[in-house]
Amino acid sequence: MKMMPASSSDGVYATVVTKKCLERVLNELTDLVYPRRCPICDRVLNRDEQRKLICLECENKPVYIHSPYCLKCGKQLSDPDEEYCEDCRKRKHSFVRGMALYDYSSIRMSMYRFKYSGRAEYAEFYGREITTAFGSLFRKWGIEAIVPIPMYSGKERMRGYNQAEKLAESIGVESGIPVYSGLVKRTKNTKPMKLLGVGERTANLKNAFIMASNDVKFNKVLLVDDIFTTGATIDAVADTLMDAGVSYVYYVALSIGTG
Ligand SMILES: [Zn+2]
Ligand SMILES: [Zn+2]
Repeated sequence: MKMMPASSSDGVYATVVTKKCLERVLNELTDLVYPRRCPICDRVLNRDEQRKLICLECENKPVYIHSPYCLKCGKQLSDPDEEYCEDCRKRKHSFVRGMALYDYSSIRMSMYRFKYSGRAEYAEFYGREITTAFGSLFRKWGIEAIVPIPMYSGKERMRGYNQAEKLAESIGVESGIPVYSGLVKRTKNTKPMKLLGVGERTANLKNAFIMASNDVKFNKVLLVDDIFTTGATIDAVADTLMDAGVSYVYYVALSIGTG
């Protein structure tokens, strides 16, 4: 066999290979220290599953909201002849309309870990899922800015992060729409909404949000939250944005209750 003399391009090739090897080793070390987990069952993902960010057993577990759904709030409907859910027929919302990705009950445990157990990493999978499902809708709506529902600063310090903000950032990366996390601030630590009736929810949220800047030039904004319950929080933030000159507020949530 004839040996070819070593050329300078071999040297460049060798450098590239070494760099790639180093990157791979670093990535593997990071995975060892911070193993990526399945957002549904929390099991550490194997190499084949890492690309999908979900384990093979759980791929079909989250239940998607599907047609027919409420044309206002996105809640699952059972009757295809209905256009709006009972809540939206009764009550006027401040947002134009919104969509939710999953039936809350199918990802309840995941949502708990995402909020309370430091699993901010789930945002990467969920943001990707939301953008895959609704990215073209966001473009059709003409969304100029993504704004997460803010968390009270003291609470955020305790938890370490605001899960809605993590989700918004992930949607921003996937969709290319800019995210403005500090645009709206929550000025008081409102009581958990699930403990309150509809009237109390509105009172609880009164003056809970302010604009960090009144120099807002967006016309169409997308609010992001992890869960949609009655929409009272979304409405309160939408009102704050509209007082500052935003014309149309939409929302997207990772999950929504069926009831
Ligand atoms: Zn799993
Ligand atoms: Zn509705």
